[in-house]
Amino acid sequence: MPHVILQHCCNDASCVSVCPMNCIHPTPDEPEYSTAEMLYIDPESCIDCGACVDACPIDAILPDDELSEGDEVFIDINALWYTDPRHQEYERTPPRPPVITRPQAPEETLRVAVVGAGPTGLYTVQELLTQSRVPLEIEIFERTDHTGGLARYGVAPDHSSTRSVLGTLERVLKRANVRLHTGVEVGRDVDITELGAQFHAVLVTVGAKNTRRLGIEGEDLTGSLTAGEFVAWYNNHPEARDLQVDLSGEHAVVIGNGNVALDVARILLSDPERLVETDIAPYALAALRSSGIRRVTVLGRRGPREAAFTTSELIGLRNTPGIELHCTLEHLDERSEDDALTAHRLMLMRQAAATVPAGERRVDLMFAVSPQYLHGSDRVTGIRLVCNELKTDSEGQVVAQASTRTLDLDCSLVLNAAGFVGTGIPGLPWDDHRCVVPTESGRVMSTDGRELTGFYASGWIRRGPSGGIGSNRVDAREIAHAVLDDFHAGRLTARS
Ligand SMILES: Cc1cc2nc3c(=O)[nH]c(=O)nc-3n(C[C@H](O)[C@H](O)[C@H](O)COP(=O)(O)OP(=O)(O)OC[C@H]3O[C@@H](n4cnc5c(N)ncnc54)[C@H](O)[C@@H]3O)c2cc1C
Ligand code: SF4
Ligand code: SF4
Repeated sequence: MPHVILQHCCNDASCVSVCPMNCIHPTPDEPEYSTAEMLYIDPESCIDCGACVDACPIDAILPDDELSEGDEVFIDINALWYTDPRHQEYERTPPRPPVITRPQAPEETLRVAVVGAGPTGLYTVQELLTQSRVPLEIEIFERTDHTGGLARYGVAPDHSSTRSVLGTLERVLKRANVRLHTGVEVGRDVDITELGAQFHAVLVTVGAKNTRRLGIEGEDLTGSLTAGEFVAWYNNHPEARDLQVDLSGEHAVVIGNGNVALDVARILLSDPERLVETDIAPYALAALRSSGIRRVTVLGRRGPREAAFTTSELIGLRNTPGIELHCTLEHLDERSEDDALTAHRLMLMRQAAATVPAGERRVDLMFAVSPQYLHGSDRVTGIRLVCNELKTDSEGQVVAQASTRTLDLDCSLVLNAAGFVGTGIPGLPWDDHRCVVPTESGRVMSTDGRELTGFYASGWIRRGPSGGIGSNRVDAREIAHAVLDDFHAGRLTARS
């Protein structure tokens, strides 16, 4: 009766350090952690002590005999990770937490400004409060009216367990030495260099909120929106409440095949009654009640092996009552080189391909196609796709090459979920190519390679838009260490 990690695991690794058997992997110290879709419990070693259940902030762990029918597949998913020979060599006792030894604390109070109150900003505050042995004052500047960033305005409303992480994150705001300023956009309302003068350390955790443009004809037509706009709309983001979302047509197309694409497909097709008890914006729920959308096609540039969505999100979509998942058999062949989890994911898609869709609401996963342009004069009426051939390049990467074959789909709504990008803050170095703040060990670097003393960046604005909420905790820990090391070394100054 081992314990099992479920779909909504956000990789924050809170369970890892409490496990007496060290049977939850990959840990943040293991190389696979940065790319892992979730963490997995080794069924052979788990002794069912339940310590991980108490440590998990979002109830993502259950004993296997308490799983619902739809979640039973996670027994296999957890076990499959350990069938890979590379994952069998871990120590059976947990690593000891590192002992932090720092020189005698300076007398001065460490004053820190945190820019952005998303998961990364709040995790960083938590790390500073836990690790610091010096008097500390933290001021947080947040441009919106609420904390939580994409954990509030991005995570789908029906992912209520994941959204419950907000409660854990926001606990730090109760501390007397932490002050929050909402409605303040650094770079517009406050100059970042001024913050640099006032505080010993400025921690930039502003995320990556914009959607990458497609650069195709028709992109700005009515009926063409970014997934970021649509997600912000259904999550009641103050800047998206007036967005015009026309759901009167029957078919929507989502461009991109990451988890966000599956989120928006699921929300578009969910029975609105399922969403009543969630945090969905009331106006969005009303619009979904009268929506005509019955079919959503999700487009991937490459094949199902390269799809960016996680296996657990695919399972979540498949398990959503009232939604049928369908895809074509193309590129779903079995290959001996596939690892166990990839093989399992393809098997799930083959099952979807084998079912004949008969229900009213359906998601079609379509692979190896790219959008060429949108049809329509004043509003979207369809999309022209080009079919891609999948080739392997000299580095072994699968790449999509446009063929001469094209395809037209009628649709009234197109959502661009091709990926998020960050934007820079005036006065702070910016890597135009990667769209991130350039850093080394979390310390901001100028474009000519010099360190900007006292400035740090973390989370999506540092790594780019990938990784779940919890993966930002590891980043947050690193910059908290960097700030404390620099302060103790006497490298940081602040105007008194
Ligand atoms: C649609 C969507 C759904 C997701 N669903 C999940 C999920 O189900 N599970 C999961 O684990 N992960 C999910 N993620 C990923 C998760 O949300 C991110 O890993 C996480 O939010 C990144 O944290 P961050 O703090 O770096 O950035 P953000 O969450 O973007 O936070 C940045 C904060 O900075 C503020 N800010 C920006 N600019 C300024 C400025 N100039 N001045 C002051 N404040 C500023 C923003 O308002 C925001 O509050 C999802 C992401 C998206 C986009
Ligand atoms: S139940 Fe106990 S032994 Fe099993 S994974 Fe959780 S903490 Fe580890
Ligand atoms: S959310 Fe965190 S604590 Fe819960 S299972 Fe995932 S990594 Fe472990």
